[in-house]
Parts: sequence; structure tokens; C-alpha cells
Amino acid sequence: MAPPYDVLLKNGHLIDPKNNMDGPADLAIKDGKIAAVGPQLPGTAQRQANVAGLYITPGLIDIHLHVYGGFDAWLFPDPHNLPHGVTTCVDTGGAGYEDFAHFKETIIDPSITRVLAFVNIVGAGMTGPPEQDTTDMDPIPCAATVECYCEHIVGVKSAHFGGPGWESTGGAIEAARRAGTIVMVDFSPKPTRTYPELLARYSPGDIHTHCYSTRTPMLDDDDRIFDFVWQARERGVIFDLGHGNASFRFHIAVPAMAQGFPPDTISTDLHRRSRLLPNATMNITMSKMLALGMPLQEVIYRSTQRPAEVIRRPELGHLSVGAEADVAVLAVREGRFGFVDATRSTLQGSQKIEGRMTLRAGEIVWDQDGLSLPSWEEGVR
Ligand SMILES: [Zn+2]
Repeated sequence: MAPPYDVLLKNGHLIDPKNNMDGPADLAIKDGKIAAVGPQLPGTAQRQANVAGLYITPGLIDIHLHVYGGFDAWLFPDPHNLPHGVTTCVDTGGAGYEDFAHFKETIIDPSITRVLAFVNIVGAGMTGPPEQDTTDMDPIPCAATVECYCEHIVGVKSAHFGGPGWESTGGAIEAARRAGTIVMVDFSPKPTRTYPELLARYSPGDIHTHCYSTRTPMLDDDDRIFDFVWQARERGVIFDLGHGNASFRFHIAVPAMAQGFPPDTISTDLHRRSRLLPNATMNITMSKMLALGMPLQEVIYRSTQRPAEVIRRPELGHLSVGAEADVAVLAVREGRFGFVDATRSTLQGSQKIEGRMTLRAGEIVWDQDGLSLPSWEEGVR
């Protein structure tokens, strides 16, 4: 008789914020879906792994990284996501309406990682003279692209614009409103377009990324968070971490966290440079939030359920029975660890998160220690 399950993870500590679960549990998968969750599940499986000492969580969701576009910056999604437990990633503005079909064909479709996208307000996306040509910022074809690729596109991106006007950010907001979606904005304030003015233009649900960057002037001269920032959060504006090469600074994050201003969503802004010295992988970015005092359960919440809600994909980011089986198995190592930020300064921490196993739609696609595999004596010859 065939075993009842395809995969069975045994003896883990399961954290699933959406279902209020935080404790010992097994997790069973059948036909790519979560089949059962609970302590000491009976039954067997084609592939079984003892994950004692490890955490079972929903597959992580990174809503800001770069897997397409120019700047020689983007990275292939699978090798830079799956080993870190990330099963859904959102490219932020690599493609505009002119090259979205190419992005879908070359990156989205062939990837194991679920690749979603914010489409750039710039028609050429992050290619050519990147994101400065105001004549290529047209909300109408941008909004049409959101509607055409609604399976993949979760919003509109404005980024890296150095001009004095509102063509980039205002255009992205207009495109998003036309298409009934949200924006994610990477903003550098100018005297002609200030940060408080930007926050006033956002609608609830719009995302401000790089919240702990100097380009997001949230602190006054005494390191107090400005009232207009609190008011924007109360109004429903989303603040995303967006680590990146230059955008996660401990000298901003420490006072912000001390005043109770965590990022809504933990994201990496992963690209070729941020992957190197600041090591902006999802697991390291989450570890930095642990070192800043965020409890593990909240770190998981802001890397799973919360980003799913923010990008309006409520079917993702949890381990409910019947959900697609995107699962991360994470180690939380104890010790002394140094973490590097955008200023190349360090913060010491005592815990470090590491991906051990990743399942995407029920398939084991990462198994660092071969926990689900037979020993060589019993294996294939
Ligand atoms: Zn970015």
C-alpha cells in the first residue's frame, strides 16, 4: 500500500503566525499541498525527514529584490532564494511595460521560486539610462501591463529617480490607481519634492521601501521619529526594510526599534552588490532584526504572513491545510555573530538563522544536510 503522504517532516518546532501555531509539530504534504499539521502525526511518507531542533515555517516571502533588469545588478532567483527558505520573491522594477514579456519568458516561467513583480513606471525598466527618462514614464501602458499580467504583477515601482519633479513617483502612483493596485517607492527627497509630501500622496497599502536608509528621513536631530511618519503608519502606509547595499543602517534602525517602529515587512533588496559585504540574504537580514530585539515569532510573521498580506496574496505565507506546500525549515544557531550594515559597521548578535530545507509546492528543492535522503549504503547504485 502506498504511504499516505508524499513528504513528512517530523519533530520540528512549527511557527505559523496566521494559524497561531508556535510549538512542537509534524507537517505532512500530499499532492503539493499541506495535508496535515500537528504533533506526532501518524502515518508514513515517500520521503520523511527528522527535523528535530529546527523550525518549520511557511516559505519565506521577500518582497524586494532584483532578478531582472540592468545595472549588472540582478541575480538568478533560484540559487539566491531557495537555500535561504525563500519560496516567493518579488522583483522590484527590473522590467517595465516594454520588456515585461521578456522577463516572464526568461526568468518568471523557468524559475522554481515563485517570482512576482512590481512593474517599473519606466517603460524600459532598469535598462538603458536607468530610470531617469521622464518621457518613458507613462502611467497608461504601465497600468495596462499590470492588468495584462495580473497573475505575476503585484504593483508598480518607482525608484532611483534624481530629477526635481514627481514624474517617477507621481506616475507610478497614478498607474497603480488606474490598475487598482499598490506602489512600492524608493525615494530620494529633493527640495522640490519632500518626504512629508510623498507620505501624503500615498494611499493605505502603498509601500515605502528602504525605511532604515538616510534617504528615508524619519528621525529628527534627536533621533525621534517625526510625527508625520507615525501618522503615515497609522493611515496604513507600509514601511518595508529593503536592506540593499546602502539602505539598512543600524544608526537609524536602533533608535527606530527602541521607539517601537519595526518594518512592516523584512526584505533584502538583494542584488549583486548587496549580496557581498552586507550579506543581505533573507536569513541574514532576519538575523539582524533578531539582533535588534525583534522576537523570532515576529521575525517570521514579517517574513511570511505580513508580506503576503501587503502584496495582497493571502493564499501565501501560511501552512493551513490545503495551502500550496511552500515550506522553510530553519536553524536558529546560538553563539556570537557579527552583522554588517550599509555603513560597513557591525552589530553583535547571539542568534543566526540558516536555511536547512526548502519545499516549493511540496517538492524538496533544498536539503543542506540531506535530512530527507537515505545514507549512501541504502541509496541508488
Ligand atoms: Zn531595490
